[in-house]
Amino acid sequence: MTTALPWPQSLWKTTAPEETPNPPLTQDREADVTVIGAGYTGLRAALALAEAGMRVIVLDAGDVGFGASGRTGGQVNPMLPFNAPATVEKIVGRQAFEKLAAQSLGSADEVFSLINTYQIECQARQNGWLRVHHSKAAQRKAKADIADWNAVGADMRVIDQDEVATLSGSRAYSTATLNPKGGAVHPLMFVRGLAAAGKARGVEVFGQTAVSAISRDGATWLTQTEGGKVRSDWVVVATNGYSDGLVKNLAKSIFPITPIQIATDPLPDDVIGDILPQGHTISDSRRVIMYARREPDNRMVYGGHGEPDGKGGMKGFDWLMKDAVRVFPQLEGVRWTHKWGGNIAVTEDHLPHLHEPQAGLIVGLGYNGRGVAMSNVMGRVMAERILGAAPKDLPFPVTKVAGIPLRNLKVMGMKHVIRWMKFLDYLETR
Ligand SMILES: Cc1cc2nc3c(=O)[nH]c(=O)nc-3n(C[C@H](O)[C@H](O)[C@H](O)COP(=O)(O)OP(=O)(O)OC[C@H]3O[C@@H](n4cnc5c(N)ncnc54)[C@H](O)[C@@H]3O)c2cc1C
Repeated sequence: MTTALPWPQSLWKTTAPEETPNPPLTQDREADVTVIGAGYTGLRAALALAEAGMRVIVLDAGDVGFGASGRTGGQVNPMLPFNAPATVEKIVGRQAFEKLAAQSLGSADEVFSLINTYQIECQARQNGWLRVHHSKAAQRKAKADIADWNAVGADMRVIDQDEVATLSGSRAYSTATLNPKGGAVHPLMFVRGLAAAGKARGVEVFGQTAVSAISRDGATWLTQTEGGKVRSDWVVVATNGYSDGLVKNLAKSIFPITPIQIATDPLPDDVIGDILPQGHTISDSRRVIMYARREPDNRMVYGGHGEPDGKGGMKGFDWLMKDAVRVFPQLEGVRWTHKWGGNIAVTEDHLPHLHEPQAGLIVGLGYNGRGVAMSNVMGRVMAERILGAAPKDLPFPVTKVAGIPLRNLKVMGMKHVIRWMKFLDYLETR
């Protein structure tokens, strides 16, 4: 008998309508495709495959949205994080860059159109994304990046301090990049909506079903779980920041990062009235970033970097509460009623990774904190590959699963690097 994995008390879990859990797998089954991971990546792939008539079984150790997809900040922000266009081009080459840039710049529109097509009720809104600049150097870099990204199809502009203050309600930043394509969803309702759309087309979803091994058996794959095995032609691995030893070297190919969030109960107008009044999402340009949103019912959600506390939980919430008041002094004294976090996968080149380690085994992960839009693109692309697209025609280069050199040392040093980055951010924002 499996013990249910604990869900964090996230705002999303509190505010999403109750749902009956998906049952565990209890017998051997056959399918065309087995999907491991019921987050955006896995469920988007499952939906596209079911639309094409394939029999799909989705397995998750928790349930739909148990991973990052049900805990995320839910900002649907197009754009690859960190890298300037020239850096991306250097890593993947000109041809792949053009495809990747087009997919990432179109990713938010793709998500909102998907929501519309399947009529997913998830409080979707595309009101724009403000990336606020915390220093002169960040401003200069943003200006250069905007020009370069606009040259390949983005639609961004710099706004001045008065407009930043009006749109954000914060005076902590002097300028910002305004990206009109960005928006927000209720993340748990969105991922559950994807699952429901898949199920309506024949996808079977099993919760509390941890996969312990995958192996080749003749021309097919066997996916092993406690309650039974699934035989299929293809296996999609969509485990992102929750990746373990299922695929050789996969967990070693990413850095485990733990973003955390805090949220309030609905706040009175005299407190929240001028914060993000037009419904923009916001994040900043610091090395250790903040990201925030205002809910339709006047709750405030604020996120940033956390750390595992060594006891199965997360820490960093005190810093986050202090930072929220620094950015939005209006929030002084409010009660933060919800605190939670989850795992994401950060790659060393800061690009999403698509792997096909063996025939019939496909893996997509590594959205570097911008996965709400990109994981949906990845899921759709993995489905296209299974349905016959050639690797050279995919927007993500198909690469080997390679462990990050000196990864353990880098992970051990990460805590200190992040402290140092926070100190530099502090000097620049004093
Ligand atoms: C706190 C937080 C805030 C974030 N904010 C944003 C944001 O505002 N905007 C943005 O774009 N991105 C954000 N992200 C990142 C984004 O949420 C993720 O990139 C995205 O949800 C990844 O989706 P996924 O389906 O690939 O993985 P997940 O949703 O993590 O799904 C992976 C699933 O795999 C399952 N699994 C793992 N191993 C096994 C196994 N052996 N057997 C069975 N199941 C298994 C897990 O249970 C899990 O449900 C945030 C993430 C977090 C944690």
